[in-house]
Amino acid sequence: MAKKGLRQVDCAGKRTLVRVDFNVPLDKQDSTVITDDTRIRAALPTIQHLVDAGAIVTLCSHLGRPKDAPDSSMSLAPAAERLGQLLGIEVPMAPDCVGDEVAQMRADLQAGQVLMLENTRFHREEKKNDPDFAKALAGDAELFVDDAFGSMHRAHASTVGVTEYIDVCVSGFLVERELEKLPPAREAGGDGFVVIMGGAKVEDKIDAIKMLLPRAERMIIGGAMSWAFFKAQGKEVGASLCKPDSVEAATEILANMAEHIDRLMLPVDVNMLQVDPDTGETKFAPADGIEPGWDALDIGPETRELYGRAVKDATVVFWNGPMGYFEKPPFDEGTVALAQALAETDAYTVVGGGDSAAAMNQLGFEDKVSHVSTGGGASIEFVQGDSLPGVDALDDA
Ligand code: ADP
Ligand code: MG
Repeated sequence: MAKKGLRQVDCAGKRTLVRVDFNVPLDKQDSTVITDDTRIRAALPTIQHLVDAGAIVTLCSHLGRPKDAPDSSMSLAPAAERLGQLLGIEVPMAPDCVGDEVAQMRADLQAGQVLMLENTRFHREEKKNDPDFAKALAGDAELFVDDAFGSMHRAHASTVGVTEYIDVCVSGFLVERELEKLPPAREAGGDGFVVIMGGAKVEDKIDAIKMLLPRAERMIIGGAMSWAFFKAQGKEVGASLCKPDSVEAATEILANMAEHIDRLMLPVDVNMLQVDPDTGETKFAPADGIEPGWDALDIGPETRELYGRAVKDATVVFWNGPMGYFEKPPFDEGTVALAQALAETDAYTVVGGGDSAAAMNQLGFEDKVSHVSTGGGASIEFVQGDSLPGVDALDDA
């Protein structure tokens, strides 16, 4: 299971391909402006290590969801520029990620230089893990470093395919840290293991719920996915976010997991907003008190108490997904309360998921938990016990 890491290889003068996660948020009006460069900063230790060691560095990444073709609004050029500023060196931008011109740019690189390839998802072959594309992307590299944990649950050309054509394949420092910090949550089970599932889509997390419910002492449900369970139980959900796919998934869980259902904790009260007519009025209501024309946007105060106590008594906590519409106060109160509970408990605490991690960072709590994962889907799949293709593809230690 242990994988070879960057410290275990000699990278001096090595032609190196690094898979980074530069899938950064861009300004909606101006796609050349990066609104949060956390992911670029997070990759610096690995890149700096390679530069200092005199490796010849080519970086690749995806950004956004281009429709299998070049799309200038999802170019990695702004990321290359930002990286250059942070490293204090010029980071030239390749016009593509494969092709003759790019191969020549890579061949011309000197020790300690860094080249950024264009968005791998501009080619449909990336997601198909096409062998010819993977071979071209691997290019002349002798060393592959994967530092994009958030993509390791996908068997794409840039995460798995390239490893067929590169001699030595190792984890970067970010991935190494994930593989050190996540196992206690992956191995946890029984008394004291508390899983918190929130966010909007039950259908996205149904596999995780199915795998983790039998393993956990308690599974706390929050966020809009609660309303899917409410609806499945025949409760009124008013104007709350509650999609048919989510209700179907919740119904399936309630029906098929009856023997474990007492471990599932659902909100006992909610905070809701009147939308029809839109008065801006908010009020708390018990779980069975959501009314037509009202939008339940957060868990209520009694639920915060209840969930907080469950976290306090835990030994291992895994949290994925916010408790409500936390971007819009006062509907952040449930998420804040749980974040606080996580910060205060003695338990081993892991937070995964883009929005939950963002909430943790916004509150300045990232150092008060055991680990904030850089991967959303990847961290859930890892914790639920699945093997990640991108991890499997690396050399054993
Ligand atoms: P994560 O990225 O942590 O896995 P998700 O992407 O599944 O989380 O869900 C987060 C989104 O769900 C957030 O934008 C949040 O505002 C939204 N959300 C959570 N609860 C509600 C709710 N009750 N009503 C509307 N939106 C909600
Ligand atoms: Mg999200």
